[in-house]
Amino acid sequence: MSQANDVIDRISPAAISSDEFRRAGHRLVDQVAEFLDLLPASPITRGESPSAIRETMDAARPLPREGSPTTDLLDRAATLLFDHSLFNGHPSFWGYITSSPAPIGMLGDFLASAVNANCGAWLLSPMASEIEAQTVRWIAEMLGYPTGCGGLFVSGGNMANLVCFLAARAAKAGSDIRSRGVGGARLRAYCSSETHTWIQKAADISGLGTDSIRWIPADEEFRMDMEVLRTRILADIETGDKPFLVIANAGTVSTGAVDPLGRLASLCREFDLWLHVDGAYGALAAIAPEPAALFAGLSEADSIAVDPHKWLYAPLEAGCALVRDVSSLRGAFAYHPPYYHFGVEAINYFDLGPQNSRGFRALKVWLALQQVGRDGYAQMISDDIGLSRAMYECIAENPELEALSQGLSITTFRYVPPDLRMDSNFGDYLNDLNRELLTRLQRGGKAYLSNAIIGGKYALRACIVNFRTTLQDVKELLPLVVRLGKDLDGEMRRQSEP
Ligand SMILES: *Cc1c(COP(=O)(O)O)cnc(C)c1O
Repeated sequence: MSQANDVIDRISPAAISSDEFRRAGHRLVDQVAEFLDLLPASPITRGESPSAIRETMDAARPLPREGSPTTDLLDRAATLLFDHSLFNGHPSFWGYITSSPAPIGMLGDFLASAVNANCGAWLLSPMASEIEAQTVRWIAEMLGYPTGCGGLFVSGGNMANLVCFLAARAAKAGSDIRSRGVGGARLRAYCSSETHTWIQKAADISGLGTDSIRWIPADEEFRMDMEVLRTRILADIETGDKPFLVIANAGTVSTGAVDPLGRLASLCREFDLWLHVDGAYGALAAIAPEPAALFAGLSEADSIAVDPHKWLYAPLEAGCALVRDVSSLRGAFAYHPPYYHFGVEAINYFDLGPQNSRGFRALKVWLALQQVGRDGYAQMISDDIGLSRAMYECIAENPELEALSQGLSITTFRYVPPDLRMDSNFGDYLNDLNRELLTRLQRGGKAYLSNAIIGGKYALRACIVNFRTTLQDVKELLPLVVRLGKDLDGEMRRQSEP
């Protein structure tokens, strides 16, 4: 046991000299710079199995009793990660909606950790809290949302949507729902069948239950059917249910569809419902000149969720929840226990969301917004959309591929052997073929797509949220998919022969 005298000249195992810190840091920065240079020529993934990964990193090793030198550890961590990760920063990564991270964001995270501001309370993070507030305002400005809105950073789209969902619940059901619980409150939330699965988690966590979700079918362009929505709301009111919330998508996950925001806003006014827009992926396309018209009505939303770790290219994690009136966040989250004595003239973020201690997620976004500027983001987002359309057009011209949808920067398609093109009896076969094709494509590490189901068809889905992608990368995808499809089709036909 150490005595108090030993602690006078304290040598803590975690402390390192500033020289060692410089050496280790410079070395790491050099390694990261080289990693970024090599990225375009590296495989996106090596498709290794969980057991292979565990073996490589010696998963079963017990916690060492004694410490190790900083540089050795960082070297080993960098090697493990550079050699065995999946790289969403690769120019041909178009799976899910995960963006290529902006280098300035990597450095921003480093700086944020060094200062270690606790953005729960203003007193603990005076500059960081103000930077977060400014970043929230700038994001609102990009969306054409009132800059007097409230908002905060959270981990991502799921949390941003949940925060807004809870704000809607307190605002429309009365904030005593927070003390009494939901009990038998027959609150109902309306969203299209294309809505992301966060809605189920939010309905569950909030105590409303997933049966409170009214799934409204989408039209052939994947947008909420307004007639069905109105009919359903009226029918629910008739039977004593309490509609409180309509969720609009500004860029659905599968096809990039934008619900009719202006019409949904007037319907919400008519029935006194909260309009929430899930713009986790797509809302920022509102700054690009060409798709801007789709987003008319966004400014009328009561709340918006948007993900800086998608189209603002922030490294994970960064989500942002915006509400028209900041008091709706306080109405949903604030408590004032006696041990908190923080002033009220500034924002204390613990009052506005579920977190208490909070990291400084806004810094990387604040830096990137200034490095690139509004015009720079408009250009990058327009370029992503343009590349996605170019992909769709090349696919449409290819006799072995079937183009299925194109919205914002998402294109879906599938491989169809030419002799099956006109034959509708092979639906299941084509679904199996494309499912396996996707698995092989992902494992191959040259280009990375994910999947969607489009009108019952298993589709390959490319979502370009990647400032590193070029037209050349897009063009190289097609022969790759065709070759995999052809090989696989041959194998599957041989297997099914008697
Ligand atoms: C990505 C996404 C989400 C979930 O966001 P996370 O950041 O993954 O938590 C929700 N809704 C939409 C429309 C999305 O694109």
